[in-house]
Amino acid sequence: MRVLIVEDEPNLQRQLKVALEGAGYAIDAASDGEDGHYLGSTESYDAVVLDLGLPEIDGLTVLDRWRKEGHTMPVLVLTARDSWSDKVAGLDAGADDYLAKPFQTEELIARLRALIRRAAGQATSELTAGGVRLDARSGRVTLNGEPVKLTAQEFKLLSYLMHHKGKVVSRTELIEHIYDQDFDRDSNTIEVFITRIRKKLGPELISTTRGLGYSLNDI
Ligand code: CA
Repeated sequence: MRVLIVEDEPNLQRQLKVALEGAGYAIDAASDGEDGHYLGSTESYDAVVLDLGLPEIDGLTVLDRWRKEGHTMPVLVLTARDSWSDKVAGLDAGADDYLAKPFQTEELIARLRALIRRAAGQATSELTAGGVRLDARSGRVTLNGEPVKLTAQEFKLLSYLMHHKGKVVSRTELIEHIYDQDFDRDSNTIEVFITRIRKKLGPELISTTRGLGYSLNDI
């Protein structure tokens, strides 16, 4: 899962980036509304954290433009203070959730997780496919109740496929959603990760549709 942070306060931006990377997300960050709008329009994100008070273009305008352009990714807005008018304006502009500053990073992560889950049509943070369970909250994966150790990239890939269970996901889509912008994206590594996940969780879990991509099965 890949998340865009648009926040002009350097310390807060860094703090959020570190916390969200620690929670298993690929993160891009922008420090003003213009860059933020550009990234959100041209890259693929599973969710966006958008500050409202931004230089260049304010957050509400950025959000309004994205929605008018047809970008539907879930957006959580950060309001500078506990102001009801900011919240109402944010929701009216198409925000999916809001959080007033100052906030606990844990709450932000929990809200993002819920937004991403809902956007994927999942009701709980525990995702299952056959004997495989992925707890998006703890980041733990088990096979028939036994813990399985995955690398950060394997976890990101599995988590994306589990959020889109039954759907064929192309290699390009996977690359767009598990790597941040600065990552050296080599599409061959996807095949390597898939092979490793199959080794750890069973060969039947992920099937390959030649020329189209991969899908996760309820085996
Ligand atoms: Ca700000």
